[in-house]
Formats: sequence, structure tokens, C-alpha cells
Amino acid sequence: MNNDNPVDSKNVNFDVRPKKALFVVAHQDDEVFIVSRIRKHLTESDQVFVLWTAVSYQKGEEFKETRLRESKMLMEKLKIPKSRFCFLMYSDGSTHQHIGDIVADLTVKIRTIDPDLIYIPAYEGGHIDHDTAHYCTVEAVHQLGSLAEIYEFPEYSGYATPLGLLPLRMRRYPKTLGTECRTLSDEEYNFVLDCWKIFKSQHFPLNLLIKLSAGKRLTFGVEYTRRLPKYNYQELPPTEKIAYERYLDSSYEDFKLGIQNYLNQARGSKTTQQANLFEK
Ligand SMILES: [Zn+2]
Repeated sequence: MNNDNPVDSKNVNFDVRPKKALFVVAHQDDEVFIVSRIRKHLTESDQVFVLWTAVSYQKGEEFKETRLRESKMLMEKLKIPKSRFCFLMYSDGSTHQHIGDIVADLTVKIRTIDPDLIYIPAYEGGHIDHDTAHYCTVEAVHQLGSLAEIYEFPEYSGYATPLGLLPLRMRRYPKTLGTECRTLSDEEYNFVLDCWKIFKSQHFPLNLLIKLSAGKRLTFGVEYTRRLPKYNYQELPPTEKIAYERYLDSSYEDFKLGIQNYLNQARGSKTTQQANLFEK
């Protein structure tokens, strides 16, 4: 007689591979903050897709092309085919003024890909384009009724140094509930640093971060991810500071206004019952 308990076996969660994992980021280099996870999916034979919402037009055509080329080189290094990554090309720093269009674009892409998992920048008040990419993806997923599991990963509040990287003081994220902290192996950490080497146009801030972490791997040696908590985007992100108010020419009010305009437009069209989810 078979001793296996049929009730126990009923509870087994089948691990169906390959999975489809979509990474939505804002700028060309944001993907490196989560490249260890991208690579992990690839080594597990999952299908990986990457989407960038923004591109930098401010410093001229040549700089824009450089930024795009750096990300394409990384995709080549990771052996992600051209048919699995895409640049939406909204202007860096003002994506919050195009929420409706970005949500529409992401809706089409997510419907086509039908991902099992989606990774987005954490709602952390670090860069207004990151928070916008986060919001637009969450909104597109709701619009579609997609069952994809959403995970967020920090960039700004994931930085940690022996000094706490003052004055950012955004270190709450790694300490908050539900955060998975995966310490990278030596090999993985070196791979991440190798990836950073591709992004020559961003070497100044990145090398500074690596130096500040004083060889302790605090900044890029740990991979933080968290299953998306329920946020109210009409309220400030749960971080100690809104970095973009300090370092960029934008404010949380701009972000909120972007959402409000989108919701007002959405209210005008009939398809967006879901759009009001985040309204108070
Ligand atoms: Zn960025």
C-alpha cells in the first residue's frame, strides 16, 4: 500500500519552469541594481524581458545614444535577445507628465508578454522617474487584471555604507518588513561590478558608491526585493526623505499632480474602473 498522504501531496506547489520575468525600470543603468536577479532567472532558464520607460534627451543626441548603447551592451552580455527588451523613450525627468501614455504602452507590452513575475523600482522617493515607472506598471497590471506577482527593488534606499551615505538617509528599506535580502556570492558580486563597468557614462556616481561602501559590499553585494505592499500613491512614499526634492528639480507634488491628471483623464474614459483604485 502507498503510504503517501494524498492530502499532503495536494498541497505541493508545482514549480513550473520556465517562468516569464519582466523587469520595468526607468533609466539605462537602473537594471544593474537588479542585474543579479535578472541573471538568476536566466540561469534558471526563465525568459527575461526588460523595459525602460525613460531616456535622457537633455544632454543631446550623442549622450542619449551612449545611454541606450550601454544598456544594449548589457543585454548582449546577458544574452537577452533584441526581441525581449524595449525602450519606451519618454523624456527623462518628466515621465510623470505622461502617465496615461506610459500605462497604455505598458498595458500592451504586459498583455503580450503575459509575465509570471514583474520587478519594478521601489516606491521610495528616490527619483521621480523611478516612482513613475513603479506606479505605471502597477496601474497597467490592475487594468489588465494580470495575476503576475509584482516585486519591488530599492535603488536609493538600498544604498548602505559604513557612514549611512548621509545626507540621503534613506536606509529604512532594507529594514522594513517583508524585504528579502539575498547576499550575493563572490562570483555574483564580481559579475555585478563587471556589469557596472559597461556604464561608463555613469561611472562618477557609481564608483563613488562603491568606494563609500569601503569594500564591504554594502551597496551592491546584497539583493533586496519585496513583494509589492499595498501603497496609497496619494501619500508620500515610506522613506525618510524624498531625494528628488533635494537633488532634482522636481517635487512629490509634481508626482501627485501627474497621477491626479491621469486619474482625471481616466475618469473621462469608460474603461478605467481600476484607475480609481488608488484614489482616497
Ligand atoms: Zn534611474
